[in-house]
Amino acid sequence: MSDAAALVDSHCHVAEPEFDADRDAVLARAAASGVSTLVCVGATGPVEANERALALAGRRAPVEIVATVGVHPHHASTADDAAFALLERLARAPGVVAIGETGLDFHYDFSPRAAQRAAFARTVALARAVGLPLVVHVREAHVEAAELLRAEGAAAVGGVIHCFTGARDDARRYLDLGFHVSVAGIVTFKNADALRAAVRAVPRDRLLVETMRPTWPRCRIAAGGTSRPTCAWSPRRSPRCAASPSSPWRRRPRRTPTASSGSRPGRLFSRWDGRARPRRPPRA
Ligand SMILES: [Zn+2]
Ligand SMILES: [Zn+2]
Repeated sequence: MSDAAALVDSHCHVAEPEFDADRDAVLARAAASGVSTLVCVGATGPVEANERALALAGRRAPVEIVATVGVHPHHASTADDAAFALLERLARAPGVVAIGETGLDFHYDFSPRAAQRAAFARTVALARAVGLPLVVHVREAHVEAAELLRAEGAAAVGGVIHCFTGARDDARRYLDLGFHVSVAGIVTFKNADALRAAVRAVPRDRLLVETMRPTWPRCRIAAGGTSRPTCAWSPRRSPRCAASPSSPWRRRPRRTPTASSGSRPGRLFSRWDGRARPRRPPRA
């Protein structure tokens, strides 16, 4: 498969224990389906949990794996000074291409909102300090998240709003900050007309795709010879976003999203090929 046709999964959690039993087979199926690179997001628990993603970063075969490090908004209450000190060390490790996921999740409020805001702002500062883009998780907080990104100068490093499910106006706010938007299989759901309308307004060079697996139960690469690079989705979602080791996801091939590689994630995550940061000069 040519580079032009290669798919990059811009957000997945393949380092999680759910994949310990068959990770190699999952990665092999992804490669066979045209996936060239997986962005393995490390923020799945307390800061130490990032180590799992770092352990996979740097693999070249059967797919390239790069990593991000961060503290998920669900775990923002654990993001104390010691956590950020460790996070900064991890952020400078080889194979780390972005900081996150960070952000605001006002749907579940697993951490107090004040803690989410503080950790989010501090993570933006860290991203700026180390010169890496941000991976941002937002649920039911798009206006506030965009404002925080603006106020904290996140445009200097850019990043991606992952698993975007907002409206067209929300997308516009992020695009105006220079951010990318990533969509997961939700965009294929019958009731996702508003999301599809929002996504149609995103320029192709700012649009990424992701599987986000294994975040949701019943969500994984389809098993068997008909596997596709993207995740098989069920309309019934798990109530969790940060990967849960107890998620009872199952191998159940379903329809696949119509992912394409129209995006240019290599430009966003430019450190993954070893080039030095910064991606672009900071804006005032
Ligand atoms: Zn997320
Ligand atoms: Zn995630």
